[in-house]
Amino acid sequence: MPRTVAAYAAFDKTSPLGPHTITRRDPGPTDVQIDIRYCGVCHSDLHTARSEWPGTVYPCVPGHEILGTVTAVGDAVRKFRVGDTAAVGCLVDSCRECDSCRSGLEQYCDNFGFVMTYNSPDAHLPGQMTYGGYSAGVTVTEDFVLKVDDSLDPAAAAPLLCAGITTYSPLRHWGAGPGKKVGIVGLGGLGHMGVKFSHALGAHTVLFTTSAGKVADGHRLGADEVVISRDADAMAKHGRSFDLIVNTVAASHDLDPFINLLERDGTMVLVGAPEHAHPSPSVMGMIFGRRSIAGSLIGGLPETQEMLDFCAAKGIVCDIELIRMDQVNEAYERMLKSDVKYRFVIDMSSLR
Ligand SMILES: [Zn+2]
Ligand SMILES: [Zn+2]
Repeated sequence: MPRTVAAYAAFDKTSPLGPHTITRRDPGPTDVQIDIRYCGVCHSDLHTARSEWPGTVYPCVPGHEILGTVTAVGDAVRKFRVGDTAAVGCLVDSCRECDSCRSGLEQYCDNFGFVMTYNSPDAHLPGQMTYGGYSAGVTVTEDFVLKVDDSLDPAAAAPLLCAGITTYSPLRHWGAGPGKKVGIVGLGGLGHMGVKFSHALGAHTVLFTTSAGKVADGHRLGADEVVISRDADAMAKHGRSFDLIVNTVAASHDLDPFINLLERDGTMVLVGAPEHAHPSPSVMGMIFGRRSIAGSLIGGLPETQEMLDFCAAKGIVCDIELIRMDQVNEAYERMLKSDVKYRFVIDMSSLR
C-alpha cells in the first residue's frame, strides 16, 4: 500500500502554501525510500508555486534540494543501505535510452523524458504529479539518488543539489581552473556557490555585483576581486580579460557590458532563467573576439555526484538560513527582495 506523508503545498497561484497530505509509492526493487531532513528553497519553487512558468498543476509540492536518511531500500538496490545519508536534486528519472541519458546528461534528455522532482506526471502513481521536498519523505529510483558524505553539515549541503550543481557544471564544462580568469555575476543563492566553486577549482575569481554592501562577503566567500558592475570605470579595467563568465542573474538585464569583458574565444554562460527576455546582445561584441553566449542547466547524475564528492573533499557547503516549514511563505517574500544569505533551508522536523 502506498503510504501517506505530511507535506506543504501550493493550492493555487495566489494563496500561501499550507499543510497537505500526499501519497508516496512503496519502494519497488530499485527504489530508495528517504525520510527528508532538510530541503532548500529555490527560486524555481516560487516560480512554479505561483504559476509564473506555464504548466503548474495544483496542489503542487515544491522542493528539489532534498537531503535525508534512507529508511528502506528495494531488493535490487546496491548503492544505499538503511541509515545512509542521501540526496535528491531536480530530477527523479529520465528516458535512460537516448544519447544524452546514456552520457550521464539526463538533464538534456533528447526525448524530453526527464522527470522533474515536482510537477511532472508521476509514472508510478498514474493521475498524480511528482511531489517535491517540502514533505516528510520521498521514494526515488536508486539511479537518481546521490550520496552525501557525513562530514558535510546536512542542512547546508541540501542546496548543493540545485544551487550547487547549477554553478559547478558550467565551471567544469568550460574548464575553470588554475590560470583561468572567471567572473561570477550576481551574489545570490547561485552566485555565492559559483564564487566558492570557482575559487576552490583554482581560478582567479571575480565577483560582479550591483551592491556595494556585498563586497566584503564576496571576498569572504573566495573572490579575488569584487567589481561593482554599475561602475563603468571599474568594469573597463577588466576589458577583454575573462576566459569565462557565469551569469547567475535571473532578472532581465543588458548582457553587453559583460560580453565586452570576455577575451578572445571567451564564453559567458547564462544559468538564471529570466521571466522576461534579456535585451538582445550586440552581435558586433561577439564577432570581434569570437566570443560566445551559452546556457547551462543543472547537471547530470554523474556530475552531481562528482560535485558532492568535491564538496566533501574541500569542505564546501552553502551559506544558509534555517527556517521552519511554516515560515516558507515569509521566506518567499524575503527571497523576492534578495533578503537571504544565501539560501533558505527548511528544517523538515518542523513538519512532523
Ligand atoms: Zn532549483
Ligand atoms: Zn533521455
